[in-house]
Amino acid sequence: MVGGEVSFNSLRGLEINTGTCSRCRLFATRKNAVPGEGPEKAELMFVGEGPGAEEDRTGRPFVGRAGRLLDQALEEADIRREDVYITNLVKCRPPDNRQPRDDEMDACHHFLRAQIEFVDPVIVCTLGATALMRVLGKRGISSYRGRIFRRLGRCVVPTFHPAGALRNPSLKPFFLTDVKEVGRLITSREAYGRDRRDQTLF
Ligand code: SF4
Repeated sequence: MVGGEVSFNSLRGLEINTGTCSRCRLFATRKNAVPGEGPEKAELMFVGEGPGAEEDRTGRPFVGRAGRLLDQALEEADIRREDVYITNLVKCRPPDNRQPRDDEMDACHHFLRAQIEFVDPVIVCTLGATALMRVLGKRGISSYRGRIFRRLGRCVVPTFHPAGALRNPSLKPFFLTDVKEVGRLITSREAYGRDRRDQTLF
């Protein structure tokens, strides 16, 4: 059993559970919840902000234009998408792709927290300013991107959101470089400290 005040028997059970969740207003406008996807255990987890239109339509994370840029970054970093777990701070699409509000992220937090416990990643790569703020409590993605933060036995590596890199192409090389650095961390085993990974992270 994993989770705080709401607990889940399995990662797959959690993913199904998002489809009936109505803990915040985003449930009213979603077509599909987008819990995340990937193996039940993964060395690397990406945490974005929230689903977009294509994700809402398909129920899968990062399958639109931003997802294609993430796929490119993974390929260049020699990381197989099927080996990583990919999810977001909120599992339902904020209307008009607005930022998720604090109360929505609070309401959805138990899902992400339990996903981290189940998947038990060594490295968490946060995508964009909102995920950086939520996971590391830091503002200023340009200052923190590409840096490695050790938190309770895990490595957290913030980078730009691929949607941001599409809007502002000058960010794209930094995004690609940061994901490559994540790949290097995995292959060098540098991220694998002796610390016991704390289940909570944040
Ligand atoms: S965003 Fe999260 S908390 Fe809100 S309805 Fe969707 S699954 Fe539930």
